[in-house]
Amino acid sequence: MPSEYVDTYYQRTLADRDTYYPPLAGAASTDICVVGGGLAGLSAALELARRGRDVTLLEARRIAWGASGRNGGSVSPAFSAGADAIIARVGPEHYRQLYRLSMEGVEIIRENIRSLGIADAHKVDGRLRVVRYEATEALQRFCEAQQRDFGREVRFLTRAQVRERLVSDAYFQGVEDPASFHFHPLNYARALARECARLGVRIHEDSAVSQAGLDGAVKRLRTAGGEIEARCVVLAMGGYTGPVVPGLRRAMLPIATYIMLTEPLGDRVRQAIRTAAAIGDDRRAGNYYRVLDGGRIGWGSRITTRVDDPPDLAESLRRELLSVYPQLQGLRVETAWSGRMAYARHLMPQIGKLAPDVWYCTAFGGHGMNTTAIGGRVVAEGIAGDSGRYRLFEPFGLAWNGGALGTAAVQLTYWSYQARDWWRERRSRI
Ligand SMILES: Cc1cc2nc3c(=O)[nH]c(=O)nc-3n(C[C@H](O)[C@H](O)[C@H](O)COP(=O)(O)OP(=O)(O)OC[C@H]3O[C@@H](n4cnc5c(N)ncnc54)[C@H](O)[C@@H]3O)c2cc1C
Repeated sequence: MPSEYVDTYYQRTLADRDTYYPPLAGAASTDICVVGGGLAGLSAALELARRGRDVTLLEARRIAWGASGRNGGSVSPAFSAGADAIIARVGPEHYRQLYRLSMEGVEIIRENIRSLGIADAHKVDGRLRVVRYEATEALQRFCEAQQRDFGREVRFLTRAQVRERLVSDAYFQGVEDPASFHFHPLNYARALARECARLGVRIHEDSAVSQAGLDGAVKRLRTAGGEIEARCVVLAMGGYTGPVVPGLRRAMLPIATYIMLTEPLGDRVRQAIRTAAAIGDDRRAGNYYRVLDGGRIGWGSRITTRVDDPPDLAESLRRELLSVYPQLQGLRVETAWSGRMAYARHLMPQIGKLAPDVWYCTAFGGHGMNTTAIGGRVVAEGIAGDSGRYRLFEPFGLAWNGGALGTAAVQLTYWSYQARDWWRERRSRI
């Protein structure tokens, strides 16, 4: 029996219900084995297949069962690490090269949707970033820098203009980005898997790698039902990375975030939200949301190091939404879920080589749509010898996550961010 997707909006509206890629059975061999069927693994597999490579992809559960099939669906450039932190580590020119890669990641997805005709990715243009404190000057400077450094046509919005789109006292100014978009990530991922299969990639769902012998010229990966030999391995297990490759697990912090789906609100949703764009607020771990079909709101929020979902998840997210849009009092929640992201301590993707012909492509944090696309591409280019662009990520290596203390430090940092957000917002309202 195929394992199930968790109950999400995407699982409920999944277009491709019938395709199942059977588990690995018996002995097999391949040139390149990709471990992990999220968007990082799929992107690498597709880029390799398009270069004519012989590829097998092993996924522990179902294609995009993890973060890639459960996320907020917002596709925009940038990384989880902010510009200042990246510049501090690598300097302004290197930062600009990285940022351009992140823009390329957005374009890869746009182009895949177009060229593969993925209508059920339900792509909707536009992203609106809003702040909960007075930030006119900072946002105007941001828009100027985006135009000057990257030619991006983002537009500053005054508080009145934000209010035309979002009927809430919570927000001050905003930035409108027409070149970003949002989509149905699970339908998109499954379409990438179909394209991989069409190009000859052998995909196996329900095939968790439980042992990995990665030394030597031939790598051996074992699952419950089979064993595969490969010349080259790409590790893309994201926030679900287990102990199979200890060096990767030690470098990663699994961080959860939550989304709820409201009942269909129909036209009533316009009492609150009057834009089709994806919306993100500027808190360090703020709200990200959008209007889905039937006027449902997909409302995302928070980051946490806790592994289990809080028992009152749906209700606490509902209260949060109502604190921004009290006019929607009485709305019901259809479902709520969590997903796990991989974060490195430096908050940048981890892309590179663990050993000869053993690649990792992970730690995309909360900005994984553009970065998994470009991550997969630069890894494929590296394997094929087409480019060394993956080296742009070298300064952000597999830093140790700090163990249990590292996890506690993340939770403390998050709480301190929340306190700082509260203080910054309070000052704007005095
Ligand atoms: C709720 C939520 C909302 C988010 N919203 C956004 C957003 O709006 N925009 C954005 O850009 N990013 C967002 N993100 C982040 C983004 O989803 C992730 O960064 C991205 O999907 C990571 O992709 P991945 O392929 O690295 O990991 P995953 O998608 O988690 O895939 C890893 C896969 O590896 C498999 N695996 C693990 N171990 C093994 C093994 N031993 N053998 C075989 N397979 C294995 C897992 O089953 C899983 O399917 C969000 C994340 C979450 C959780």
